[in-house]
Amino acid sequence: MTDTPTLHDQHGRYPRAETADDFRHNLAVVQARIAAACQRAGRDPAGVRLLPVSKTIDEARIRQAYAAGCRFLGENKVQEAHHKWEAMQDLADLHWSVIGHLQTNKAKLVARFASEFQALDSLRLAETLDRRLQLEGRQLDVFVQVNTSGEDSKYGLPPADVPGFIAGLPRFPCLRVRGLMTLALFSDDAARVRACFVRLRELRDRLRQQAPDGIGLDELSMGMSGDFEIAIEEGATVVRVGQAIFGARAVPDSHYWPVGTR
Ligand SMILES: *Cc1c(COP(=O)(O)O)cnc(C)c1O
Repeated sequence: MTDTPTLHDQHGRYPRAETADDFRHNLAVVQARIAAACQRAGRDPAGVRLLPVSKTIDEARIRQAYAAGCRFLGENKVQEAHHKWEAMQDLADLHWSVIGHLQTNKAKLVARFASEFQALDSLRLAETLDRRLQLEGRQLDVFVQVNTSGEDSKYGLPPADVPGFIAGLPRFPCLRVRGLMTLALFSDDAARVRACFVRLRELRDRLRQQAPDGIGLDELSMGMSGDFEIAIEEGATVVRVGQAIFGARAVPDSHYWPVGTR
């Protein structure tokens, strides 16, 4: 179980899905990988939610993914997500999760349409989101993003700051805190990738014992196309998978988060 490799060498080589059948195929492959990882870890696959990540994917292909059964999609950039949400109002049961860094001045967009926000990393943002959600009469599931790789370039709170941060969240009644989210080191060195996931799980386990009332810390959102098996072995309850479902992405990761050693 500890020698599961990363698949970062697949980067840029995942088969592109165009039709609903292509999506069914790619989803089945990913679900089989999830099931195999769960089996190695002695976990029930029902405890792992697959969040397909549709950034850069156009509306026509997203509709094919919907036809193949996708009902929850992750987007890194809020404006892109909001455009897609507006364009696909007819798909009433399609839900959007914003998984990328958010500037406070765009909080009102998230409050308007998102079902979930996975990159909460400042109290100022929490406060703005909560105020906007009150105006919209909505609530939002949120994950606190943690920088587990120690790279300056990564978004998210340093692990040491998370307990104090969580203690401040009960002030915001429209935010339903679900758990923690991280991006691991992007490396072929599986042991170092695994160490990021272990750090997030251990932090969650410690925090859970002292969590304020109403703060749920059950969820761990960790793992993407190249490393989700390792994340599942270490306790992921949500895996965010783009390229293994939609196909290789031309846009480099540096467009989505500042790249250090990634
Ligand atoms: C794009 C993205 C993913 C998915 O990455 P893939 O390599 O396409 O699987 C996961 N998490 C975040 C925050 C992302 O922006």
